[in-house]
Amino acid sequence: MHIQRTIKYEADRVRGFAEEIMSLAGCDRLKSCIQCGTCSGTCPLSIYMDHTPRQIMALVRADFKNEVLRSRTIWLCASCYACTVECPRQIRITDIMYALKQRAIQEGVYPRRFPIPVLAREFSKMARRYGRITETLLVMRLFLKSDWRALFRSWRMGLGLLRTGRFSLRRERIRRVQELDQMLATIPEAPATPSTPRQIP
Ligand code: SF4
Ligand code: SF4
Repeated sequence: MHIQRTIKYEADRVRGFAEEIMSLAGCDRLKSCIQCGTCSGTCPLSIYMDHTPRQIMALVRADFKNEVLRSRTIWLCASCYACTVECPRQIRITDIMYALKQRAIQEGVYPRRFPIPVLAREFSKMARRYGRITETLLVMRLFLKSDWRALFRSWRMGLGLLRTGRFSLRRERIRRVQELDQMLATIPEAPATPSTPRQIP
């Protein structure tokens, strides 16, 4: 486990970030976090994270926006909800992780070529555009935008999936996709807090 212990500077805080995250649906209870660490102890993936879930909660509350959005933790979160179930303050940690992922994608602040955010971004683009996911095309986009060599490494498996009908090259889409678009357009977007997005090597 590699836990980052770095000095925090007042200048790195982005005022309003915590408030903005807590204003999102399901994230409002974050303010009652008592830093007990139950979430970190429960999380099956915390040993692989650069910041434990407890640390992420603390960093969000303290407005360390860039550190949170740059963290691999939010992408390693498998949405198992174990932390949320165990939290003594009923904080919906998994929903907060989702909100942070969305914000990181929106601002383009995530580890470049790290496959998980690329997959999330491409999945959401495809779902929005066609109303359905065509796995073959999604996987191809993922490889091309994260690690194109993986495309060649996995060709045997891809061929097998195509042969058995598990994958199809035909693009799937719903009828009247514009109605989906209209529905999604009614969801209000959270206002962005002012900060300079950083590209992460
Ligand atoms: S379990 Fe809940 S109260 Fe405890 S540190 Fe995690 S988020 Fe905070
Ligand atoms: S939802 Fe995410 S942060 Fe919470 S226990 Fe599961 S993997 Fe860990």
